[in-house]
Amino acid sequence: MSRVYNFSAGPSMLPEEVLKKAQEEMVEYPGAGMSVMEMSHRSKAFDDIIKEAEALVRELMNIPDNYKVMFLQGGGSTQFAMVPLNLGTGKKAADYIITGQWAKKAAQEAEKFIKVNKVASSADKTFSYIPKPGREAFSLKDEVDYCYICFNNTIYGTRYTELPKTDAPLVADISSNAMSEVINVEDFALLFAGAQKNLGPAGVVMVIAREDMLGEPLEGTPTMLTYKTHADAGSLYNTPPTYSIYIFKLVLEWIKSKGGIAELQKINEKKAKLLYDYLDSSKLFKGTVVPEDRSLMNVPFVTGNDELDAKFVKEAAAAGLVNLKGHRTVGGMRASIYNAMPIEGVQALVDFMKKFEAENA
Ligand SMILES: *Cc1c(COP(=O)(O)O)cnc(C)c1O
Repeated sequence: MSRVYNFSAGPSMLPEEVLKKAQEEMVEYPGAGMSVMEMSHRSKAFDDIIKEAEALVRELMNIPDNYKVMFLQGGGSTQFAMVPLNLGTGKKAADYIITGQWAKKAAQEAEKFIKVNKVASSADKTFSYIPKPGREAFSLKDEVDYCYICFNNTIYGTRYTELPKTDAPLVADISSNAMSEVINVEDFALLFAGAQKNLGPAGVVMVIAREDMLGEPLEGTPTMLTYKTHADAGSLYNTPPTYSIYIFKLVLEWIKSKGGIAELQKINEKKAKLLYDYLDSSKLFKGTVVPEDRSLMNVPFVTGNDELDAKFVKEAAAAGLVNLKGHRTVGGMRASIYNAMPIEGVQALVDFMKKFEAENA
């Protein structure tokens, strides 16, 4: 059995170099005489790993000194609560732009703690575009504590190419596009990403927060859900997900070895173009997102016929192109083409789609 091209939305492909390196070091981490899994999180060896991971995140994303970088647990979904609990403390209100399931879930969670204004939504067209509310309409800092967006919508395949104009602190879920394209961290008050899409294995969440956002949380907030707890303790307040952080560090080294995020972005743009160009020319398959808001990472497409979709997913899997079934709420197909997906994988998919189109015309 050889490795397949895995188009899963997450957990998803990791670079083979990273897996091989982890394999080499799994039983005996160099100089430690034990596996990273067996190490104390207070050991010198692990301290070096977590410090190096943070330094690489800072270097690759060009993060200013007045931002904290944290490695937390609980997935992206726990951030849906931590954001309002820690940031919704002044006006106790926030604006949310609803661009899909993840933004919706974040807003629903925030509503438990603060007032939520759903200032724009693309629900009217099955989240196939990014709504662009006018400057006057929303997010004034004397009315809300922050404005929340989901930068790349993993399920529907949309992404922001222009940030909403707001003078309130901007918070973004970058779970599925972190380090796939250059992001100007200073445009944001807080960014978070669950690792299992584009950064590493499940179990660790990267949070990047401007220091002035990390004050006292809402009354009754658990210690573990308080950003300040983790920021002050260098993500070592309690036992962090040590092995996931180690693999994340290997992924960061891999990104650096490829020339950094800007270089990966060029490759990602090429990969996405290859697939979208074919979708635009195909008579059988069609993309579901308006061209100007298309994601570089998650590409949903349909034939318009459920039976044919199922046949495609099945035959593609047999050809070594796996996990192409669309999200259970959308149907059709979705190809997730994160950093670790080589251009050869996208080319193989396009070639297979052409063949399928010819056979099923
Ligand atoms: C997957 C995903 C989440 C949820 O992540 P979990 O780690 O499963 O909680 C949140 N936001 C986005 C954009 C995602 O893609």
